Amino acid sequence: MTEKQTRETQTSSISATDFASLGLAPELLRAISVQGYREPTPIQTQAIPPVLSGRDLMGGAQTGTGKTAAFVLPLLQQLLPLANSSPSPARHPLRVLILTPTRELAVQVHQSVRTYGHHTLLRSYCAYGGVDIKKQTEELKQGVEILVATPGRLLDHVEQKNVLLNQVSFLVLDEADRMLDMGFIPDIKRIIRMLPKDRQSLLFSATFSDEIKKLADSMLRTPLLIEVARHNTVSETIEHRTYAVEEGDKLALLIHLLHSSEISQCIIFVKTRIGCARLARELQRVGISADAIHGDKNQHERLRTLEAFKGTTTTVLVATDVAARGLDIDDLPHVINYELPSVPEDYVHRIGRTGRAGRAGKAISLVCPLEQPLLDNIEAMLKKPVERMPTPPFARNKRYRNTTTTNRLRPPVARPPMLAEDGFDFSKPYQPKESEPAGEIPDSPHVPPKVVLPKQPKRIVAALLGGIGKNNNVA
Ligand code: AMP
Repeated sequence: MTEKQTRETQTSSISATDFASLGLAPELLRAISVQGYREPTPIQTQAIPPVLSGRDLMGGAQTGTGKTAAFVLPLLQQLLPLANSSPSPARHPLRVLILTPTRELAVQVHQSVRTYGHHTLLRSYCAYGGVDIKKQTEELKQGVEILVATPGRLLDHVEQKNVLLNQVSFLVLDEADRMLDMGFIPDIKRIIRMLPKDRQSLLFSATFSDEIKKLADSMLRTPLLIEVARHNTVSETIEHRTYAVEEGDKLALLIHLLHSSEISQCIIFVKTRIGCARLARELQRVGISADAIHGDKNQHERLRTLEAFKGTTTTVLVATDVAARGLDIDDLPHVINYELPSVPEDYVHRIGRTGRAGRAGKAISLVCPLEQPLLDNIEAMLKKPVERMPTPPFARNKRYRNTTTTNRLRPPVARPPMLAEDGFDFSKPYQPKESEPAGEIPDSPHVPPKVVLPKQPKRIVAALLGGIGKNNNVA
């Protein structure tokens, strides 16, 4: 017996008991034990038995709770009788469809499918937008039982007949609230209409707005509701701290903290893509191994950056909220908010990158006077004050003057209304209609925008230029 096999067997004897009592098959228990999981997390304990018994589920759980294994394990088990080694694509029809809002989450969920399904003959694949469709087409045509996909790219494949949905028996909607935020619900509804009615469906969401409940009503049959963490609650194992600092000194303080404290690896959050790239460059300039992850980077660059960070080649990852959605990085000890988010819920999502699965974590925020109202909102949501740390002495080096903040908070400027004859108010901000989908990754220019057919304007805009009305005939 090799050393590796001995280790595996020993771990099995510690860990398999609890998972085994949930009724999981030996090939799955083996994969779990290799991961070193000692016991199921609360969402796993609650979700695995009902999903194994075929029940629909509405799960209130955020990333970091172990929710992926909670649905992947029982679905893999239900497919086990169908697993086969035939090379024929016809013997591997699509049975499980897992939809995620972002490519990063799709990759991570697929990685879990591969990890937990390692000792089975089931085939899986991950399809997302923003990359060439050809390779995905070839892979899909080989036949896969499990597909993890972002909605837009799945529809492309369905339209091109690269994948058939008529044998899908299991549907999972992961991070449904993010799907809603990102304007995917019309796509999701289209996909659901193409699926067989006789199927098991699971919906996971960190929050349950009325719209999510409506979606759940339309896709789930007498679902079991499981909630493992109240909305907007954060892990008890995270320490929250703030440092008061002038906006222009943030960079110098950050560099001081990164150089002098016990921070070994961290994600730093900023609000904008430009700020994200600039901050990473500034940190590199002073010898800190930093990289940026944001929507201006293409898919390969983002994955490479993430892999370098996971492999600890990079110690600092500067990220925007959108790019960081669903990032799963084990054992991340620190999260730094270089800029506080405008919405307190994003604070919860950000710091959810640390303190995972019961581990200790620290969330540090650099707060300038203009951001105080944002901190007040965060504290109101957390229902507790965040600890103020004395700002340590640091070199206010002119070179480190913060030039990275791009989204300065300015008090709103009152403008007089500009009214058209028909009462239209030009001074109001543009309000997109709810029905207009936001696209696959809102901050990514690499995703082709959805084609929106030109609409007839209600007012003849060109009349303002004095051109229409006199001679409107086109030769
Ligand atoms: P998730 O919420 O699915 O994104 O999982 C968060 C992290 O918890 C992942 O890194 C998993 O590998 C890990 N994890 C999942 N289940 C367990 C478990 N039972 N024990 C320890 N870690 C787990």
